[in-house]
Amino acid sequence: MVNVSARLIGFPRIGPARELKWALERAWSGRMSVSEFNARVTELRQAHLDEQRELIGSAVDDYFLYDQVLETAMQLGLVPRELRGALADDPFGVLTILARGSSEREAWEMTKWFDTNYHYVVPEVVGAPERLVPLPWRTPLGGPDTAWAILGPFSFVKLSKLGTETEPRALAGATGRALWGFVREQLDRDPAFRLQVDEPCLGMALSADDAQLLDAAYADAKDLGLVEPALVTVQFGRPSSETVAALGRRGLAVQVPLERVDELSADGAWATQPEHVVSVMDGRSVWSDDFGVARERIEAIADDGMPLRLVPSTSFLFLPHTVEGEDLPPGFAFAREKAAALASWAAALAGGGSVDAPHPPAADWPEVGEIRPRVGREDRRAAQSDLDLPLFPTTSTGSLPQTSEVRQLRVRLTRGEIDRPAYEHEVDRMITEAVAWQEAAGIDVLVHGEFERTDMVEYFAEKLDGFHTTRSGWVLSYGSRCTRPPILAAPPVAAEPMTVREWRVAQAAAGRPVKGMLTGPVTIVNWSFRPPGVPDDRLFWAVAQPIAAEVGALVDAGARIVQVDEPAVRERWPLPTVDAEERRQVYARGVRAALNHVFHQPAAVQMHTHMCYGDFGDIVPLWADAGVDVASIEFSRSKDESYIHQFYELFDDGHLQIGPGVFDVHSPHSPGTETMASRLAHFSGFMDATDLWVNPDCGLKTRTWPEVERQLTDMVEAAREIRSAATAVRAE
Ligand code: GLN
Ligand code: ZN
Repeated sequence: MVNVSARLIGFPRIGPARELKWALERAWSGRMSVSEFNARVTELRQAHLDEQRELIGSAVDDYFLYDQVLETAMQLGLVPRELRGALADDPFGVLTILARGSSEREAWEMTKWFDTNYHYVVPEVVGAPERLVPLPWRTPLGGPDTAWAILGPFSFVKLSKLGTETEPRALAGATGRALWGFVREQLDRDPAFRLQVDEPCLGMALSADDAQLLDAAYADAKDLGLVEPALVTVQFGRPSSETVAALGRRGLAVQVPLERVDELSADGAWATQPEHVVSVMDGRSVWSDDFGVARERIEAIADDGMPLRLVPSTSFLFLPHTVEGEDLPPGFAFAREKAAALASWAAALAGGGSVDAPHPPAADWPEVGEIRPRVGREDRRAAQSDLDLPLFPTTSTGSLPQTSEVRQLRVRLTRGEIDRPAYEHEVDRMITEAVAWQEAAGIDVLVHGEFERTDMVEYFAEKLDGFHTTRSGWVLSYGSRCTRPPILAAPPVAAEPMTVREWRVAQAAAGRPVKGMLTGPVTIVNWSFRPPGVPDDRLFWAVAQPIAAEVGALVDAGARIVQVDEPAVRERWPLPTVDAEERRQVYARGVRAALNHVFHQPAAVQMHTHMCYGDFGDIVPLWADAGVDVASIEFSRSKDESYIHQFYELFDDGHLQIGPGVFDVHSPHSPGTETMASRLAHFSGFMDATDLWVNPDCGLKTRTWPEVERQLTDMVEAAREIRSAATAVRAE
């Protein structure tokens, strides 16, 4: 093959030991001065580029400090008027205010980045950009082997919130002009300047309006004069042939999936490309990719004399840094290993060397099972009536403060400084104290507090065969925050009950019901790395097996109330691409079957769930067969009650009981009894008194005890108020 090379389109910026996280957090807390921070960022950015060059011979400069969308808005000067002055003198200060808020203004909203667990900051755009000025930490560094990355004008407009005065097409045009103008200026300074334009929104199904937006954004992109055509990445979904051709004719090279080369060749889009950029590797999978399959396809591509660049399907931002130092079987690859593999693929195709990566054994994933209706809602209510709960029962979401004492305890256990019985003894003491506090505070349905859990998914993954967990497999979630997703390698099995011991300790100390507390199968799958090629429905179903068995074990132990959390049901809901419909059917089938399997419990057991992170949109109907009795749903943060209405009306055998969160757990403050009571009064306007529960928006693990005590005490008081108001009405 002639002229084949390999490129990256993004690399994890957080760093092998989360260096960027520590730098950001030190700068925010004032433990690092501005000049120290700037010097540290320069050093880390250099290391980020050097590491890529060492692995693959080139680099993409995607060293954004907080988020690419936010920093693109800032470079376009699109910040709120009162912050414009500070943009030049204190850009990091402006970034901090927009990302994290200040005492004067709220932060810009944050939302999920496509179907990942990364979150971007949503710019609120008023006016139009005039020019693009790189932030100091984004000034192009030059070097012929480095591409400078920026969010493209089409996606920028699609992902921002536009003020009422702002017309999308005009904004796209102005954003494009600012970007292309900057590129031309930059070329005067550095003729070897290379550009990568990230346009993830181009992979979704485009409307006629979108096509016009695209035209406006790229109208001025012709004849930029780059030595190498600008690379337009489309990391989610797939660009249409029209999109590829529209950009190709303007001299831009568009990333396309290897499987689509034939189709694009047939319809002529391929021939418009100034060079070919083909995704050949799964950028989000930790399984090593199959070179044999890719090779066959790549070698079948007719040589038209144009350079062929092999890239991963996405940035490696969604992978941990390296498998080195992890206790994983052979065949897994993180960012470093994947980058090195891609370089070796290009070398092998160019005629040098061979590639053989081991592959983890493929597992057998059983087909999804039947849906079995649970006993009807009215019969369940009757069977649960001996729980003897008051109207407007109070409860909390599950976790209570993860104090430094709890975290220290776990560190000491891992280091072998204390043994398991000593660890459990301390955890049990915390559980007992937490139960006593809740009872004294007058809470009706208690929780054990989840002190034994690091994370709601990792805890179960560690206990289940079939998952691998990592020591340092950190992946950026937002800003400086990372998670450590487990790897789902085979249908999981539990060797013994996972939550029963702690539940028993709590229930033994309580005179009121304690909820059994588990993470649901869909959330576990969606927050884990998944095996390649296995359909969603089989994954959900496989994980539902041990989770349903765990609910069974809690029920056998005597639990009358069990909560199964599903905050991430929506995360992998197939994106609105042209082939979404088919993939959504598989996803929906899997969610329905898995939820039904887990919630299908005896009538006397009250089954709860919890959902947060707003935007449930299309997934509400997927709960229709779940047989869930009570749901706590985030409300006070998103202030969006449309889901609450939808869930309330979802079932045809009566209403779901719902606890719309009455306070935001992200805030250290309590909104006060009055606000909570008025929220409840609002909901009792359309929900029966027997259907309305009282609880926070989410778990309280990031709060301190004094904060939680205030918040929950106010909440119990709010419930008492609405209870006495309701009894007064009934007596009339
Ligand atoms: N039960 C979990 C907790 O309270 C739920 C967390 C979540 O929804 N993210 O922490
Ligand atoms: Zn939650």
